[in-house]
Amino acid sequence: MPANTPLRHRHHRRAASAIEALIGSGRATEAPEALAHYGCDWSRAATPAPAAVAFPQSTAEIQTLVRWANDSGTALVPSGGRTGLSGGAIAAHGEVVLSLERMSRILDFDSTDRIVHCEAGLRTRALQDYAAERDLQYPIDLAAAGSSHIGGNIATNAGGLHVLRHGMTRNQVAGLCVITGAGERLDLDRALLKDNSGAELRQLFIGTEGTLGVVAEAQLRLTSPPPPAATALIALTEVAVLGEAVGALQHHLTLLACEFLDAAAMARALAAANECSAPPSAPGYLLVEYAADDAAVAAWETLSEAPWMPSCQIASSKRQCQRLWRLRESLSPALAPLHPHKWDLSVRPARQASLLAGAERLLQEHFPNGEWLWFGHAADGNLHLNVLPDVAEGAAPSPFAERCQHFEAALFGLLLELNGSASAEHGIGLLRQGWLLRSRSAAELAVLRDLKRLFDPNGVLNPGKLLPATDTEG
Ligand SMILES: Cc1cc2nc3c(=O)[nH]c(=O)nc-3n(C[C@H](O)[C@H](O)[C@H](O)COP(=O)(O)OP(=O)(O)OC[C@H]3O[C@@H](n4cnc5c(N)ncnc54)[C@H](O)[C@@H]3O)c2cc1C
Repeated sequence: MPANTPLRHRHHRRAASAIEALIGSGRATEAPEALAHYGCDWSRAATPAPAAVAFPQSTAEIQTLVRWANDSGTALVPSGGRTGLSGGAIAAHGEVVLSLERMSRILDFDSTDRIVHCEAGLRTRALQDYAAERDLQYPIDLAAAGSSHIGGNIATNAGGLHVLRHGMTRNQVAGLCVITGAGERLDLDRALLKDNSGAELRQLFIGTEGTLGVVAEAQLRLTSPPPPAATALIALTEVAVLGEAVGALQHHLTLLACEFLDAAAMARALAAANECSAPPSAPGYLLVEYAADDAAVAAWETLSEAPWMPSCQIASSKRQCQRLWRLRESLSPALAPLHPHKWDLSVRPARQASLLAGAERLLQEHFPNGEWLWFGHAADGNLHLNVLPDVAEGAAPSPFAERCQHFEAALFGLLLELNGSASAEHGIGLLRQGWLLRSRSAAELAVLRDLKRLFDPNGVLNPGKLLPATDTEG
């Protein structure tokens, strides 16, 4: 079959029967409620319309299904916990969803090297709990950890709260077992700290959103547990001091997490968490977790003099600390029913104030009566912008969508000026392809297309995601 066959438009009757004939009964479904459930992710970027959902239970079964997809011209959408915010796991064109949810076993644990070998359908929280039971830590932590899968985290190179200490998911991956789009099994699993023997192929499958291969198994490094920690909520005199404040806090404290909320985000968070004791009013806040060591005590004496910090509340009990973190955690779930238009932006941390100032000007221009809020991982330079649809537009949302498009074009210009990114940690999926095309050179795009053809010559894996359909199919 030629690489440019438009697989997405082929409809496969009785795909579930074909799959069950290959891997066993009860392992596929075409039930309408299952198609709606498994065909969608958190972004709801398109209406789900898969042909079937398959539930492999082993790496060998994934390989069987990918080979069948190549033979039958069936498009597959690898699917984890479906918490993705870019539409990467959406199946809207008669694809077969390849759900990894029945592959959630921990296969091995090497306590000397602190490496867990697991199947890709293991939930992130389950791995965190497994690590904690052994006095260790799996440091990738995000509000979606209860639902997201390790395979989904790897495919999106998830970040979260502790990137400033431990890096993104990529940094924890010691080994992978992948089934490529061509149906080849690659055991990239030596789990060596040192192995300079040419290109490190496993990196190609991290952050490429299931377009080159299906992650079937992973070996992940656990870390030492964090030191005893304290939490503080810091008010800022103005958002323009954000970069300076983060720099000073990092200089004086051992920061473990550092989250920014602007005043609008704080107001929504207080309402969502049902928290009645509001912090003093301020244009912005930093919620920080830091090592509660002797140095921290001395550091606060210096920091309390900082002109950018009019007030600071240090949690005095575990309960107070949990209440402060609940503010941050409740934000995304509270915003979801309001269907905000989201942008996942990053710049070098010191340039955050320039990003905020430039974007504010554009927001005022494009949404003169609008409501928007900023929050995010300030020490990483990663800010999430949420613009809420204009309630007055009610049943006619298209003007809002159009304004978002125009705003986005201007925002991309600002990000290019600041050398930033419009896809910090949520991936490209369906929603951010405009940024990929605008930020990558023609030569880079050509290499990305070549990689797709190399690993997935028939275009069976996640067609139309990450690279736009015309790029993968044309
Ligand atoms: C409330 C909330 C908070 C969030 N916070 C953060 C955050 O702080 N940081 C962050 O980075 N993200 C965050 N996210 C986004 C999301 O949780 C991450 O992108 C997560 O890594 C997705 O994992 P998943 O298992 O849900 O993947 P899915 O949504 O199922 O899939 C995501 C992509 O990975 C592919 N995929 C899934 N499994 C596999 C596999 N086994 N092999 C190959 N490809 C696969 C899919 O095809 C798709 O392209 C948040 C989401 C929500 C809803």
